[in-house]
Amino acid sequence: MSLKDLLPVGTYEKLSKEVGHHSLTDKHLIACPICGKKTVYSQANKYRPFCSLRCKYIDLGAWANNERSISDEIGKDDDA
Ligand SMILES: [Zn+2]
Repeated sequence: MSLKDLLPVGTYEKLSKEVGHHSLTDKHLIACPICGKKTVYSQANKYRPFCSLRCKYIDLGAWANNERSISDEIGKDDDA
């Protein structure tokens, strides 16, 4: 079974175009850390290691929220 068979229909062609050649291998692919979708890890993917801008923002948001909740915890301690 080739990589092409493992990916959703049209994805191989799309990723091949993004990578810029037609010898796409699983070495070019990573799973998006946010949604797990297969995405291409190359300079062609400006959102790497994420699959999209959306996932990149979700990751940044999760990180920012985490920071905020840590500050809130400290604030609660001061209150008590
Ligand atoms: Zn994603």
